[in-house]
Amino acid sequence: MAPQKPFNIAIIGGGISGLTLAIALVQRNIPITIYEAAAHFGEIGAGVAFGPNAALAMKRISPTILDAFNKCKTINQGPIKANSWFTIRVGDARKANVDGYVKEGTKVGDALYDVEFNTDWEGGGVYRAHFLDELVKAVPDGVAQFSKRLVNMKTVEDGSGDVICVFADGTEARHDAVIGCDGIKAMTRRWLLGEDNPASRAVFSGKYAYRGLIRTEVATEMLGEEVAGNSNMFFGNNGHLLTFPIEGGKTMNVVAFSSCKEWKHEQWVITTSKDDMHADFSDWGPHVQKIVHAMQKPDIWALFYHLPCDTYYKGRVCLLGDAAHASTPHQGAGAGACVEDTLFMAELLKEVEKKEDLETAFKAFDEVRRPRTQKIVKTSEEAGRLYEFELEGDDLNKIEQNQTQRMRWIWDYDLDGEVDRARRIYRSAVVSQ
Ligand SMILES: Cc1cc2nc3c(=O)[nH]c(=O)nc-3n(C[C@H](O)[C@H](O)[C@H](O)COP(=O)(O)OP(=O)(O)OC[C@H]3O[C@@H](n4cnc5c(N)ncnc54)[C@H](O)[C@@H]3O)c2cc1C
Repeated sequence: MAPQKPFNIAIIGGGISGLTLAIALVQRNIPITIYEAAAHFGEIGAGVAFGPNAALAMKRISPTILDAFNKCKTINQGPIKANSWFTIRVGDARKANVDGYVKEGTKVGDALYDVEFNTDWEGGGVYRAHFLDELVKAVPDGVAQFSKRLVNMKTVEDGSGDVICVFADGTEARHDAVIGCDGIKAMTRRWLLGEDNPASRAVFSGKYAYRGLIRTEVATEMLGEEVAGNSNMFFGNNGHLLTFPIEGGKTMNVVAFSSCKEWKHEQWVITTSKDDMHADFSDWGPHVQKIVHAMQKPDIWALFYHLPCDTYYKGRVCLLGDAAHASTPHQGAGAGACVEDTLFMAELLKEVEKKEDLETAFKAFDEVRRPRTQKIVKTSEEAGRLYEFELEGDDLNKIEQNQTQRMRWIWDYDLDGEVDRARRIYRSAVVSQ
């Protein structure tokens, strides 16, 4: 077994990013401490989908993470849609002509086309809380500290480059480096970019979402087996709705999106009334009407995202996951980007032999990861508008052309080649120092 690395890392935050990173670093003999603001690890319910790029990253990080994913993941039920990422339908009745057709031969709610993936697809949807539970099992005892909300950081003034983390409870901890996995509202991001930088805080995307879970047997009764057991997107004017199976097909995950100009509430998740939710979809066709009427707890999630920033690191502090590149969810690629980040960071830190080189590893991470992850954020925001007739209008042919191409660069990523490139950047920088 390789000896422990002569440096220790603070991971701020224990979501998907922090936990996968912790598992990856422990397995590479890198000493870590996770500081989590909450009293325990926890995830809000609802589903999250991972593409094949994310599944491959999990495989490369550690079999433990891939096993956790495979244990929780659900793919489309039944062979007919086995290669379909989503079946696309128009859900909004306003798009139909007087005879109810949105296109020749296709009515509101009927399948228009499928966005397909390659047959060796290994992605799938998971129930977030279950996946997180599986990850938590793989984190060794004693590496996580809870109720530790980071409120400030200071670089030690003794020339060591070490970083002191300051917590809300008044305690401090000194580490050789800090990796901020503290999510979309990251304190580490504000510290790194500066409070005055417009990119330091997430901006509202103009979209919000209702998220809900419906038992598949109920959904099947309402919508039929094909819709209830597979993944669907229903498009419409300034709104769209998606469904995909989770929990081994026992549950249909629903996310229903709508639009507003600005977000006036301080909270990003608010409870609304069923009437408000129904009003948002009152002009939609029977499929969507049935789905929104079956949703029990109408919480609204405001969707925010990060504007691009110039760097993901400063000294020995680096951002990872949503802290670096929080995205709207429209390409289902945000959590996958977090997992990819983890692989790059783990493989780079494995290269580091002395703490003075940690910043060089962060620089290589930034160089390789920033362009891709910022492009994911940008194209995701565009995708939301595409689905809601705001990018290509309601021209269904143009939408199909655009949509069937736009995911390929995310899924068909040359992960191994890019990890190699990051390593080469790091090695040549260390040699030339
Ligand atoms: C509606 C919606 C649907 C989505 N669907 C998908 C999808 O289908 N596919 C996909 O790939 N992605 C999806 N995403 C994106 C995905 O959920 C995120 O990219 C991912 O969960 C981010 O993980 P994270 O660990 O970086 O951040 P988080 O999950 O936000 O975790 C941050 C952690 O840090 C802790 N923390 C925060 N501040 C501090 C502090 N100061 N000190 C200490 N700890 C702190 C928090 O308590 C939390 O545990 C979706 C997002 C939304 C909003």
